[in-house]
Amino acid sequence: MGYEKNLRKVVPYVPGEQPQNTNIIKLNTNENPYGPTPRVEEAIKTIKTDVDRMRLYPPVDAGILAKAISKYYGIDEKKLFIGVGSDDVLSVAFLTCFNSEKPVLFPNITYSFYDVWADLYKIPFEQLPLDENFKINREDYLKENGGIVIANPNAPTSLEMPLEDIEFIVKNNPDSVVIIDEAYVDFGAETALPLLDKYDNILVVQTFSKSRSMAGNRIGFCFGSEKIIKAMNDVKFSINSYTMNYPSIVLGCAAVEDVDYFNQQCAKIIKTREESAAELKKLGFKVLDSKTNFLFVSHEGVKAEKIFADLKNRGIYVRYFKKPIIDNYLRITIGTDEQMKALIDALKEILA
Ligand SMILES: *Cc1c(COP(=O)(O)O)cnc(C)c1O
Repeated sequence: MGYEKNLRKVVPYVPGEQPQNTNIIKLNTNENPYGPTPRVEEAIKTIKTDVDRMRLYPPVDAGILAKAISKYYGIDEKKLFIGVGSDDVLSVAFLTCFNSEKPVLFPNITYSFYDVWADLYKIPFEQLPLDENFKINREDYLKENGGIVIANPNAPTSLEMPLEDIEFIVKNNPDSVVIIDEAYVDFGAETALPLLDKYDNILVVQTFSKSRSMAGNRIGFCFGSEKIIKAMNDVKFSINSYTMNYPSIVLGCAAVEDVDYFNQQCAKIIKTREESAAELKKLGFKVLDSKTNFLFVSHEGVKAEKIFADLKNRGIYVRYFKKPIIDNYLRITIGTDEQMKALIDALKEILA
């Protein structure tokens, strides 16, 4: 078994459970409880009639989808990179932008994929502690580094870092690429996209998985300077050029074009979030000030792990991270009003 020593060993990212039982209330992986725009259903019909298209490779730049995203954000296509979910975009960005001997910096509590990619690509990194209120201290990011990655709003804390602080970090690190992961930005936070006009060293990553309700289609993208995007494409074309499949290109286009539906759904989730936060506070939970489609909560009297297990027994799945610092917190995805009512009712029984 001599070959075993040559196998690459990584400790993989652990995604939230995806139970196949459809009877459960699933509030554990930050999916959108509403379907994508009805235009996606219409677009599926065009794919059906054009099934012969499948024998051809898709456009390497995602063609019409790139045009639609570029148009929606009003940013040149040359500054756009599209990937198979933002996990793919982030992975290519790590591989492309973090090639220094100096450590890449990110918070100790954040999206738990960052340290996995850093390990996989043998990128040195340092995780900087959040403060006692789970906030990111911008001054911490002035030390020598080979790059920076910040989820804003941060996950799983749900907290937004002010744009002013993001700009401070980008401005004071001209020799590093600063990646801002905006997976949740559409739920009430401020995007860093306008900083692209002033700085070349920022990369803003977003996804269709949460706010556009298309996690199953795997569409993510980022905007950055032409130089960074070109370098990312060179890396991507050295691995696999045709990543975005034809149906996802067509369906993604339909999703991004329905601006009204998008705005309505985001507003609906924000409203449910605020109402749910108020209910949870009444039940004795500390609720962090979320700008995302989830709440990060901790109960004053009952341990998170117990609440997690009791909810699961009742068929309600939320996320629990058995990790230092956050091991008494639960991350609860915002579902429909009915789902949130079921959650609150279950919690009333559990806490009684
Ligand atoms: C969900 C999420 C992503 C990735 O989502 P994709 O489905 O791969 O687009 C990236 N970053 C954070 C912080 C997330 O929560």
